[in-house]
Amino acid sequence: MNLKEMMSDDKIIGGYNDPPPNLKQISEKEFAQSDFFVYSPCKTEYRQAKDIIKNSGLTAIWLYWFGDGTGIGIRNDYWEAKVYYYSFYICKHKWENIVNRMCYQENKCIKCGYISAVDSSD
Ligand SMILES: [Zn+2]
Repeated sequence: MNLKEMMSDDKIIGGYNDPPPNLKQISEKEFAQSDFFVYSPCKTEYRQAKDIIKNSGLTAIWLYWFGDGTGIGIRNDYWEAKVYYYSFYICKHKWENIVNRMCYQENKCIKCGYISAVDSSD
């Protein structure tokens, strides 16, 4: 199964009451330096998911998915007046270089087939 298929498979990405795969809380610093401020999300989702807070019920969280199968989650705590940040991913990409020219590189994940192209000339 390639990344695109995985990204539309509810068994992998979870449903409305599930946390996204490999969800992990990150610090405000990690959030500030995350892809959230670099790329446009390809999908946003609002979920009420279990297991985000231990021994709690459903927790509301916004999910911002990026094309490489990673994402950022954001939730608030109204009564604490605080915001919490999360990262998640479908695949921990393992890169293999497939094109390497002057200012242009293409890397392919050997696990999910996702191809990342970087043009450093612009
Ligand atoms: Zn991958």
